[in-house]
Amino acid sequence: MHLNIADTFNKELPADPNRNNTRRQVHDACFSYVIPRKPSKPQLVHVSEEMLKAIGLSHEYKSTEHFLQLFSGADILEGMDPYATCYGGHQFGHWAGQLGDGRAINLAEVVNDNQRWALQLKGAGETPYSRSADGLAVLRSSIREHLCSEAMYHLGVPTTRSLSLVLTGDQVLRDILYDGNAAYEKGAVVCRVAPSFLRFGNFQIFATRKDLKNLRLLVDYTIRHFFPGLKEGTKDGYIQLFKEVTDRTCKMVVHWQRVGFVHGVMNTDNMSMLGLTIDYGPYGWLEGYDDNWTPNTTDKDQRRYRFANQPGIALWNLAQLGSALNLIIDDIAPLQEILDGFKKDYTEQYMYMMRSKLGLQLAIGSDQELISELVRIIQLTETDMTIFFRNLSTYKKDGDTQDDIDPLRPIRDAFYSPEELTKEVLQEWQGWIGTYLQRLQKEQSSDVERRIRMKAVNPKYVLRNYMAQMAIEKADLGDYSLIDELYQLLKNPYKEQSQHEVWFAKRPEWARNKVGCSMLSCSS
Ligand code: AMP
Ligand code: MG
Repeated sequence: MHLNIADTFNKELPADPNRNNTRRQVHDACFSYVIPRKPSKPQLVHVSEEMLKAIGLSHEYKSTEHFLQLFSGADILEGMDPYATCYGGHQFGHWAGQLGDGRAINLAEVVNDNQRWALQLKGAGETPYSRSADGLAVLRSSIREHLCSEAMYHLGVPTTRSLSLVLTGDQVLRDILYDGNAAYEKGAVVCRVAPSFLRFGNFQIFATRKDLKNLRLLVDYTIRHFFPGLKEGTKDGYIQLFKEVTDRTCKMVVHWQRVGFVHGVMNTDNMSMLGLTIDYGPYGWLEGYDDNWTPNTTDKDQRRYRFANQPGIALWNLAQLGSALNLIIDDIAPLQEILDGFKKDYTEQYMYMMRSKLGLQLAIGSDQELISELVRIIQLTETDMTIFFRNLSTYKKDGDTQDDIDPLRPIRDAFYSPEELTKEVLQEWQGWIGTYLQRLQKEQSSDVERRIRMKAVNPKYVLRNYMAQMAIEKADLGDYSLIDELYQLLKNPYKEQSQHEVWFAKRPEWARNKVGCSMLSCSS
């Protein structure tokens, strides 16, 4: 076994001199050293073969005791100096002060094939940043993080990755609905992997403390390692960094809207500086397309992080990052210009993305109305987003005799309750489909070509909330087969997989209001 350890964060940035693992406010430091907690009886549940290879480990190594020891936190390798980072954040719109890696411990950075990967154990015990919590994670939320990070990657959405999922053998007390019904669950550790886990909050903490020295050190570090085209130590470099982070965040959110992903907790401590989807907590997937939907029960009244609000929140978060960076830039105008640019860029990219979902290559002004009408009509009844867009590709632009009899035939499977399709709703759909087919006439490409393009942006398989829940319930009983089945399925989300057709289906009724499916909390 050989991991090419090449640490930078804990080598180049100021460390907290206190090595005691006690909860505290940490000043003048980017991180604190901390050793993972020893699990009582680690057991391997699942490994992403791709990430194994990416970090330079062999297929055989995953079955060794050594692998289990390392990625459960039982043992560390020589040359590793694990640490938890210090960050703050705005939670639900309010500054929350110091947060930090409360249950994430960075093992090391490795370089393989010229790619830097930070390896981070989530759920491996308390750190100075654990505040009032235990530093642990449960199997349920760890399965969700492991499967979803890998699934998002294969959907083409920028994301942190997941190497492994292990059981610790320890029991963890959780009150899932925060209603006084705490119960023990199986503890687990996921090894997350990303070039860097830097968040907006890592910069905000120094800005609110007026610690310009460390803010500058961290910004320069970030530029040096992750934005090598920019110039560290310069105002222009800092402004460009903000522009890069803004652009990447914009792209990431456009992807979320494309696939129907709702993050659930877009606090600034959960926003990656590299524009990666990070911190898979109470996230969820749109089943019925619904602009107002949020999976997060903690947010059910305010719905701050609802589907349609994600771009606006991304912008709000970027504004917080901008004001933090402005402490060392001291020129608000260019930063404001970048934020204004986000609105324009997002609208353009959203339009391009929605056109591509509809199979439209030309850009025509009236598409805006076609798209906004679709978004309105699709919400008149409960309509499955994934099935709708996937099946929309089967329309023929010159019409079809079968569709003349029933114009909704290609998309009918997407409707949850046929009785909701009243005369008025049917009329709306018929009007929209008519306009859509006329619009397709303006396109050069054939039905076959368009279908291929549409299928490359409209996934057939996503990690529907109930699918993850089924894998969790089986795993709780010791059967991990569904975890691997879903992992394999979601490696090819755009491909027809006839043996897996069962997963191309609307959410079953039992999952409609079930905890873990439509209702999730931050308890994890
Ligand atoms: P989240 O909303 O899950 O991203 O977490 C917000 C903050 O709470 C972060 O600083 C986490 O590290 C911390 N946190 C969440 N769960 C735990 C836990 N079980 N133990 C310690 N810290 C936690
Ligand atoms: Mg977080």
